[in-house]
Order: sequence, then C-alpha cells, then structure tokens
Amino acid sequence: MIATLLLLVYAMAVATIGPRLLRRSHWQERYPRAGIAAWQALSASTVAAVLLAGLSAAMPVMLVTTTLTEFLHTCAMLLRAQYATPTGALITTAGLGVVLMVSSRIAWCAARTAIEVARARRAQRLSLAVLTREDPATGIRILEHAEAAAYCVPGRGGQVVVTSGALGQLAVDELEAVLAHEWAHLRGRHDVVVATATALRDAFSFVPLFAAAADQVPRLVEMAADDVATRSANRGSLANALLSLGGTPAPVGLLGAGGSTAAARVRRLVAPSHPFGMVRGLAAAAGIAAALVLPLALAAAPALAFSQAYCPVSWTA
Ligand SMILES: [Zn+2]
Repeated sequence: MIATLLLLVYAMAVATIGPRLLRRSHWQERYPRAGIAAWQALSASTVAAVLLAGLSAAMPVMLVTTTLTEFLHTCAMLLRAQYATPTGALITTAGLGVVLMVSSRIAWCAARTAIEVARARRAQRLSLAVLTREDPATGIRILEHAEAAAYCVPGRGGQVVVTSGALGQLAVDELEAVLAHEWAHLRGRHDVVVATATALRDAFSFVPLFAAAADQVPRLVEMAADDVATRSANRGSLANALLSLGGTPAPVGLLGAGGSTAAARVRRLVAPSHPFGMVRGLAAAAGIAAALVLPLALAAAPALAFSQAYCPVSWTA
C-alpha cells in the first residue's frame, strides 16, 4: 500500500501545484516548445501515477519478470492470492476499477475529440473545394472574403487558407511570414498537440492541471509556430502581419495566424530576443525527464527497498 499512497499523493501534488508553478514560469514564452513539453510531461506523469496507483493496489508485489508469459502467469498468481482474503479482494477490485475507469474515460474522450475534429475538417474541406481557388505559385487556397484571415486545415494533404482581404492588406514579406507560421502548424502536427490537451481536459475537467494545460498549450503552440516562422522571416514582418490579421479566430478545430493570442505574440516578437541557453535547456529537459520517470520510481521504490532488505548485495569478491 505504500506505493499506492505515494503515487496518489504525487498525482494530487502534480495536478494541483504543477499548474500554479508552470503558469508563473515566464521561460515558457521564451522557449514555447519546452513549455509544451512540460505541460505534456506533467499531464502524462499524473495519468501514469494514478494508473500505477491502481495497479499497485491490485497487485502490491512488484513484478520482476523477463518474458511476457512469465509476466502474465505471475499476474494471475498475484491476483488469485489477493482475492483469497475479503480485504485483499476489496482493494484489488478498487484498484482495477480505477485503472479501468481512468483508461476508458481517456480513450472515450480522445475518440470523441478525434471524431469531432475530423467532422469539422471534412466540412471545412468541402466548403473550401467550392469557395476557394488554389494559387499555383504558393499552393495556398485563396478565399474571397473582405475580412483579413489566414489559417490551416491540418491532416492528410494539409491546406493553408488565406482570404483575399489578407492578401490585400499584407506586404510580401508579411505574407511570407504568415505562410511560414501556418506551414509550421502543419509540419509540427500542432493540431494533435492541442487535441490531446483538450481530450484530457474533457475527460477530467475537475483536475486543475488538465484545465490549465488545455488553456496554455494552444497559446504556446502559436508561439512555437512563430519561432519556426521567424527562422526564415523577419520578426517585425510577422508582428506587422499579426496586427493586420488582428484577433480574427480560425474556424473551430483549425489553427490560425491571428486569434486571441495575437496581442501577446506581437509583444513577444517586438521585444528583444533572448536565446534560451544550453543550461536552461538542459534544466528543462531534466525536469521533463524527471516528471516522466518519477511515477515508475515511486511504484518500484517499496519493492526495491524490500529486495534490498532481504537480498543484501555483497560488494566483496
Ligand atoms: Zn497559428
């Protein structure tokens, strides 16, 4: 039960304290890809800790096996031993119930999000086929509309859509910057990143970490696409383009160049650029790796302590 309690306390701490710490971390805006990875790592770590807590309650003995057959056989033996007593049966049923409930809830919400997004994109593609024309020089789809907007339709054969209003307002360098931003969304599969955070929030909306991640990840995804765009485009050109596009949001389920985060991104683009630095990069990578490994370490720690107590290692030949 020690591992179960440790994992539950860890999951609760990460789910409540984690978002408060990350929201205050201004380094995310300087290196949004690391910020996205941090939110993803904390989310994965919380889910893993809860699942491992359920498994460790169901089978409190650490499984150390070398083959799948041996693993399954040992699992069956442990479950039989647990169900031999009324208390053991109750704890095991509760543990397996948690695992089943959490995993099925996540799978259900992920499938529902994927279906909704696919439906919205299909409708968007059908509309675009009728309402837009392709520019043979750039490969983008041009929509005749007075409002300045640019967005992309992710998925197989991803498309970038720009309105005639945007073409009329943007200078050549600004348009190139916007297109680089949209291609960065498509190449980086940012739609999957956002959809994953949304699905977790929908699955367990009462968890502060998942609610905060679904709020912060889309903002960081936009900044990450800006960073990719400014490798080939001028920062000032992209900032001017964002001012022209204003807060025009992309259609539901799609990623745009403007939107509600545009003002914060303009401020970031016009501010002096500070490289994240190798030391901060390594520290962020170490923190992310620790978040991913800690649940497994907590699950294994009591078993390792037990084996150390009963199987002391001799360091002498
Ligand atoms: Zn965007």
